[in-house]
Amino acid sequence: MNKGRLIVFSAPSGCGKGTMLAEITKDKNYRCSISATTRNPRPGDVDGVTYYFLTNEEFEDKMDRGEFLEYAGYCNNYYGTFLTEVDPYLEQGINVILEIEVKGAMKVREKRPEALMIFVVPPSLKELRRRLEKRGTESPETIEKRLEEAENEIPMAIKYDYVIVNDALEDAVDDFFKVMETEKLKAENSHELIGKILDTK
Ligand code: 5GP
Repeated sequence: MNKGRLIVFSAPSGCGKGTMLAEITKDKNYRCSISATTRNPRPGDVDGVTYYFLTNEEFEDKMDRGEFLEYAGYCNNYYGTFLTEVDPYLEQGINVILEIEVKGAMKVREKRPEALMIFVVPPSLKELRRRLEKRGTESPETIEKRLEEAENEIPMAIKYDYVIVNDALEDAVDDFFKVMETEKLKAENSHELIGKILDTK
């Protein structure tokens, strides 16, 4: 059986990445890894579903034990990807999506150079502010901090393999599946195809 593809999906907070991923994972060949974090749960968060919510001590203990593929600090909290959320699924042929910020993404690129790196941008910073304010889950102070973080993160898009603008959700999701199709045509991803052709002898 073919292994799944590891996909890194980064976007500034408020870009509609969550909505995009909800659409993408309707396809059962895709699964979002559930990250660990030390931030406080927001309305709608469910422990073990949206995140594993840990104390600082618990997180650092897991860091020391090497349980993470990557971890990073973001807005005064830790966020990290458990190896157990990734490799068992890839082995089953499922594509695993990591919804992570830029520093963590760069660590994944180092450790897993075969990972497909996608960056999602908002159509404008004005629209990003509008979406964050509309979400209404963060204090004005946190919104400012997230906008500042977004301005720092967006130029990093250049380091990814593909950039998708999330203006209209449907188009952004379409672009994602186009990327996946295009990736299949890459010579370095053609082992399965070549095997099939040679089997026809
Ligand atoms: P939020 O607090 O809005 O859920 O997430 C804040 C940021 O942390 C987002 O950019 C999100 O992609 C990132 N993030 C979530 N999980 C992880 C993770 O496991 N590792 C890293 N490095 N970043 C993460």
